[in-house]
Amino acid sequence: MADTIRVRIVADQIGQLIRSLAHRDYAIFGPAVKDGAIVYDRIEEIGDLPRGLTDHQEAGRYSLVPRQDQALFGYVLGPQSWKKYFHPARVKLFDARNDDGVFQILPNTASPARPVALLGVRACELAAIAMQDRVLQNGPYADRIYAARRAGAFLVAVQCTQSAPTCFCHSMGTGPAVAAGTADITLTEMDVASDHWFLAEAGTDRGAEVLSELSFAPATDTQCRAADEAVALARTGQRRHLDTAGLRDLLIENFEHPRWDEVARRCLVCANCTMVCPTCFCTDIEDASDVSGTHAERWRRWDSCFTTSFSYIHGGSVRTSPKARYRQWITHKLATWIDQFGTPGCVGCGRCITWCPAGIDITEEAQALRGTVNHGNTES
Ligand code: SF4
Ligand code: SF4
Repeated sequence: MADTIRVRIVADQIGQLIRSLAHRDYAIFGPAVKDGAIVYDRIEEIGDLPRGLTDHQEAGRYSLVPRQDQALFGYVLGPQSWKKYFHPARVKLFDARNDDGVFQILPNTASPARPVALLGVRACELAAIAMQDRVLQNGPYADRIYAARRAGAFLVAVQCTQSAPTCFCHSMGTGPAVAAGTADITLTEMDVASDHWFLAEAGTDRGAEVLSELSFAPATDTQCRAADEAVALARTGQRRHLDTAGLRDLLIENFEHPRWDEVARRCLVCANCTMVCPTCFCTDIEDASDVSGTHAERWRRWDSCFTTSFSYIHGGSVRTSPKARYRQWITHKLATWIDQFGTPGCVGCGRCITWCPAGIDITEEAQALRGTVNHGNTES
């Protein structure tokens, strides 16, 4: 596309942006409040956004509290990731019908009715989507369900101007600034307490087309600089850090490190960390039939390396202890993922830290193997 232009739009124009996307027949999803947390849900108007709310996060803790202002994207991240739209938690693969003793397989060819537009995607989440694209769409084992849902998706990123204490995207090289061209439109929310505006930038031609329908003014150098500085503050405000230097070899060489026993005493093997992780992609297959025996279904659902059944092969499970399962998870995330896909499987979103009921912290566990653990937070 042509050179990117940065423009200034007033906050109310977000409503027009939603209408422009709806007019193009996208199913629009974005942040909304549900059950005391920011989740991703259908968005039909600006009033659906979590105006004036922010999140407080720490290891094993999350709460939603009012802000002093009317920010629309004034939180950091909730428990859900966008993967639920492209890689659903549960999806039917096929039905089977018993016709006179012979089962007919009826493939589920249903595609999503229309492409999605995702509003409010953070930089680390764009990196997670790119990671799942690599695994589920662009690799040797492409998943047609993922590809059908991912096709045509319109991504509106909102850059972070604040970080949660659990964030460490900067050390993973995935944020908080949105990388050029990774979203159709990138927004930065500014001056929320005074005149409340957004810096908007198109990353693709179709993003430029949508943006051209809004009322905007070219952003001044001062406004562009202010937005860049706000994002830089989110970076410098990150307290957690994952030192990735030599991390793969560190994990591989410490298969029998005593730290695994220590973390196993705290880990509840609840699988929360894998459910909230935007890059985890493992699934299981379930078959079910009705009582008459004439109808059967095959479903695919998210699974986790923290369950005993996940590693079941003929005769039993390979990883029966919490120690083996935690070690498998973190070693895959930070070491063998590199062997498979060329990068670590972690984007530093911090969800697994916030949503671990035991407050287990991936940055702290990795640091512990180096023998330099600093409980709570590592250097920034
Ligand atoms: S590390 Fe935490 S979230 Fe993950 S399985 Fe163990 S207790 Fe659950
Ligand atoms: S491992 Fe944890 S911090 Fe890394 S991407 Fe997954 S949930 Fe986020």
